[in-house]
Amino acid sequence: MGRDERGVTPQNEDFSAWYNELVAKAQLVDRGPAKGTMVIRPYGYRLWELIQEELDRRIKDTGHENAYFPLLIPESYLRREADHVEGFSPELAIVTHAGGKELEEPLVVRPTSETIIGEMMAKWVSSHRDLPLLLNQWANVVRWELRPRMFLRTTEFLWQEGHTAHADEADAMRETMLALDLYTEVARDIAAIPVVPGEKTPGERFAGAVRTFTIEGMMRDGKALQAGTSHYMGTNFAKAFDIQYTSEAGRLELCHTTSWGMSTRMIGGVIMTHGDDKGLVLPPRLAPYQVVIVPIGRGDQGAQTSAAALELAGRLKAAGIRTHVDDRAQLSPGFRFNDWELRGAPIRLELGPRDLEAGTVVMAKRLGDEGKQSISLSSAPELIPGVLEEFQAFLLQRATEYRDSHTMRVDTWDAFTKAVASGWALVLHCGRPACEDDIKAKVAATPRCIPLDGTPETGWCVHCGEASAYGKRVIFGRAY
Ligand SMILES: [Zn+2]
Repeated sequence: MGRDERGVTPQNEDFSAWYNELVAKAQLVDRGPAKGTMVIRPYGYRLWELIQEELDRRIKDTGHENAYFPLLIPESYLRREADHVEGFSPELAIVTHAGGKELEEPLVVRPTSETIIGEMMAKWVSSHRDLPLLLNQWANVVRWELRPRMFLRTTEFLWQEGHTAHADEADAMRETMLALDLYTEVARDIAAIPVVPGEKTPGERFAGAVRTFTIEGMMRDGKALQAGTSHYMGTNFAKAFDIQYTSEAGRLELCHTTSWGMSTRMIGGVIMTHGDDKGLVLPPRLAPYQVVIVPIGRGDQGAQTSAAALELAGRLKAAGIRTHVDDRAQLSPGFRFNDWELRGAPIRLELGPRDLEAGTVVMAKRLGDEGKQSISLSSAPELIPGVLEEFQAFLLQRATEYRDSHTMRVDTWDAFTKAVASGWALVLHCGRPACEDDIKAKVAATPRCIPLDGTPETGWCVHCGEASAYGKRVIFGRAY
């Protein structure tokens, strides 16, 4: 079959079409019946489970406990924190009727859980001995979306939300940065996305936060994707929900709280960081199938290669490698090869009658091709883990080089507009929200973050010429 049926539009022709076709054809998602909703299919959900496993282990290892809070939140809770309700109002889904009657108080379908968790924290914290309180929830949230894109912006999505309460600012800030570190690690080491950790400018802060931190990844169209955020709330939510404790000195004090989240958006990040014109390219640590074995041959020969493929799969699985046998004998080998390239399997093993006779199998990597390679059937379980590790490292290196070659340090408006047309601009900026708005209106670029590792530098705003803020450079770019 030609490209029209199986393949996808090339990235440089229409990146957005490439993405939309790929998420459907790779069987990651389907559209839900209600506007903006997505059905996550088993292949996509397995990807999410693997992200979850990695993140959940790290969250627990650093002393947090999982809990679950209700989906429905009294509307009045959201009004208690003025910035919070203002920020979320346009996106809220509100239940006004239930059980056949109009409700006395409408219920909000959670867009995030600071309010309801804050209410519970107030009940659970009374003494300094109750702190820090380190909670995490895995849940779905609903934010009404007018321009949905699968995984990136959907009306309902899955995420984890960490919520913690602390005795003072220093402890809460340590927590805020710890969460950012966990996200940076999962993005870099598991998803092979070389994200830049940094702080959001005041105009880009979370509604109700004192400081917001983010990890930003560069996609293969040069746009930025915010892949996780961590917020220091100061005492804003503690004031709104009376989260107080008695200090060692016996005084009543307000807690300092944090929240932090990573969502199914991360899957969109993986697709757009590594994918190419043939389809998905999955980092081995997130690939539902790290190895796909395709047995080849008809009749008796086909039966023999199929049996050998299953035997090999058994040995690979025993070695801890996620393996799948594509036994669809009614489909040609070429069709099956293309299908697993589209679906991003890191390694494909082709097993034909002649290979079987020779005690070998043909290994084809999804990328970085030095051509196909014949390997011995017996040594495959020892050989393949190393190949997968190399592939993982290769993806991170390739994405890092891409990001670095599309990031420009610029000092003039002319150079700025060129930089953000194809990637990121690293610039001095005055920090005024009005100037950020002007830039956005002119070139659709926004401040992504003030990188944590930026070197001290001051000067003049690249757009308006006023004195620079933040004491270092800011990344601007177009974003998802
Ligand atoms: Zn300015």
